[in-house]
Amino acid sequence: MGRELRGVEIVAIGDELLSGATLDSNAATIAGRLESLGLRVLRKTTVPDAEAQIEEAVRSALARSGAVITTGGLGPTRDDVTRAAVAGVFGRGLEFREDLWRALEARWTRLGRIPETNRVQAEVPAGAEVFPNRRGTAPGLAVEDDSLGLCVMLPGPPHEMEAILSEQVVPYLEGRTGVRGRRSFRRTLRTVGIAESAIAERLGNRLDDLPLDVAHLPEIDGNDIRMTAWAADESDAAAALDEAVSRLRELLGVHVYGEGEADLAQVVGDLLRGRGLKVGVAESCTAGLIGKRLTESPGSSDYFWGGMIVYDDRAKVELLGVLEQTLQRHGAVSEQVAREMAVGVCRRSGAETAIAVTGIAGPAGGSEDKPVGTVWLAVMVREVAVTERRFYPGTRDMVRARAAQGGLDLLRRTLLEELR
Ligand code: ATP
Repeated sequence: MGRELRGVEIVAIGDELLSGATLDSNAATIAGRLESLGLRVLRKTTVPDAEAQIEEAVRSALARSGAVITTGGLGPTRDDVTRAAVAGVFGRGLEFREDLWRALEARWTRLGRIPETNRVQAEVPAGAEVFPNRRGTAPGLAVEDDSLGLCVMLPGPPHEMEAILSEQVVPYLEGRTGVRGRRSFRRTLRTVGIAESAIAERLGNRLDDLPLDVAHLPEIDGNDIRMTAWAADESDAAAALDEAVSRLRELLGVHVYGEGEADLAQVVGDLLRGRGLKVGVAESCTAGLIGKRLTESPGSSDYFWGGMIVYDDRAKVELLGVLEQTLQRHGAVSEQVAREMAVGVCRRSGAETAIAVTGIAGPAGGSEDKPVGTVWLAVMVREVAVTERRFYPGTRDMVRARAAQGGLDLLRRTLLEELR
């Protein structure tokens, strides 16, 4: 067993990663698997398929952190130079391994005679540990010495990389972590209707005394706050995480709608089901998105009546009974029309609650007093209408997604308010 590891750097290799033709998913996979071992990724570098640059990246990563995982460049082609580069860093030659060559030949018998170019895949830095590759031809490799540290090389294709990592490299590294036995534990709070900057302002330094990392993760339709604590077992982490969650809930109040993978439409569905209520929807700019969201989980007919997509003004009048004069006087994107849409859907459905949305998703159609992104939301809960004007930034798709989330959230808040 080698030295204890403090953390690991990743060197991702490939011209296609630099050009953006391939997204570097391997680094994310590696980081996730290492984190569960208690090993942090300290830095990530991306380099082209060029021996000198790989050598330089691996050398400096080892000097900083003492451990490196590379991905890519282990194939049989001329641009696959990781083996030679790492051998150079460790001052070792490449040695031809008969056992690897036989394994490669055996793999090729099904396909025909093995091309001579594949011989390079049996050449590995002298003394390297080999992790056989059941899904491809390039094995994973590890080279280590006391002064430089450890370099693990993994192939580029994600399914090959992942299998070697999980089945062989993780057990190989297990127990070598400098934070021996410590793992990460996480909780994520989901918020809606509050900007990232407003969250930061409310938080200030109120979590700084707790032994955990806080990450702000902005999503299109809300902001998540993820807390990570490192501890030997769950109960040690739970104290800090529980405290952080309760402080955040206090600071952010009704903006927190759930934890982990919670979905706002599901939260609304559960509230409706708990009260024995049904909801009908009247959607203009979201054109069915809210209905889709509300019906994503099985059993949604318990609380979802149905809805109307009322895009054209005629549809608003004929299907929902919105008054022509309201449309003329205030325009389709207005508080009055949103309210009449919500009232209309309740009246026609008999549902006790409703969500109505009308807005300008863009990119065209905005004006000075109603710019693109202007959305009027209305909900009805037992004959009481509540309206809200919102302005959602972003592309057409983003405005629509945000408007759907906003409509769901307004119903959630109104139902919770009703309970008080
Ligand atoms: P091969 O034996 O297939 O040549 P290799 O180890 O040489 O394996 P590369 O040639 O560098 O790997 O990459 C093979 C393919 O794997 C690439 O075309 C790319 O689609 C994918 N790939 C490489 N690196 C990554 C990465 N970091 N994240 C996601 N995919 C990757």
